[in-house]
Amino acid sequence: MIDSSAGLAFTVPAFTGLVAVVTGGGSGIGAAVTASLRAQGALVGVLDLNPGAPADGLLPVVADVADRESLTSAMAAVALTYGGIDILINNAGISAVGGIDANDDEEWHRVLDVNVVGMARATSAALPYLRRSPAAAIVNISSIAATAGLVQRALYSASKGAVHALTLATAADLVGDGIRVNCVAPGTVDTPWVERLLARTGDPAGERARLEGRQPTGRLVTAEEVAGAVTYLASPASAATTGMSLAVDGGMSGLRPPPRG
Ligand code: NAD
Repeated sequence: MIDSSAGLAFTVPAFTGLVAVVTGGGSGIGAAVTASLRAQGALVGVLDLNPGAPADGLLPVVADVADRESLTSAMAAVALTYGGIDILINNAGISAVGGIDANDDEEWHRVLDVNVVGMARATSAALPYLRRSPAAAIVNISSIAATAGLVQRALYSASKGAVHALTLATAADLVGDGIRVNCVAPGTVDTPWVERLLARTGDPAGERARLEGRQPTGRLVTAEEVAGAVTYLASPASAATTGMSLAVDGGMSGLRPPPRG
């Protein structure tokens, strides 16, 4: 936005006057999204099991997306501190490895509870504030695993497929309230999460090379590249976009290039 009211044209950051909440904002993609929104003028509530240290315009709140009560009080704390909530980034999530028979019922329930029900809980807790915002937007973090069949990711993929469907259904329910709902579907992103996954394999360097080779660009996505897409979908610049999934996957979902080398 350009404001020339004082005679001099200057750029007003896109998120000036807006308040965002980022779940899982303490690490990886969530931390990059937090930094991006803050850099563009938003005040940000960081809701995480480990939300990090407070800073100018950043409110860390210890919250567990598996606990409805914790989310209700965390949203209230952000709204009380910053005067409302305009944007919700549902990013907190956990990994699961293995085929369909690899995890017991307890693990299926645990992962779906965090990755899917956690988004429903956080959205419900934020809704009373979002309904009062003139620029309300929700961005859910899905995954390439929602729409492509990846080996050894049955439970994780089921959780992200549900996030994709939940995004569409919620967008339809909330469009009349002026609340936009979109998701971003990353490929493999170079975050502490992937470092942990690699460390659990017998051959971290070989597995990293396999993951890099899976993406047509030949490299992992950066957390900042995902944050750029999230920032766009959260911003008033995308006011006509709702119910969409934006891939940030190095071409993995759509391209079939010849093998490298
Ligand atoms: P990460 O492990 O680096 O960060 C996840 C953050 O979520 C951590 O700070 C963690 O403390 C927090 N968290 C976990 N459980 C929580 C809970 N119950 N309540 C509150 N906070 C909780 O992971 P990341 O790679 O940045 O992943 C973030 C999101 O991106 C996840 O939803 C993940 O599924 C998705 N994603 C990641 C990749 C990837 O390759 N890294 C790819 C596609 C999608």
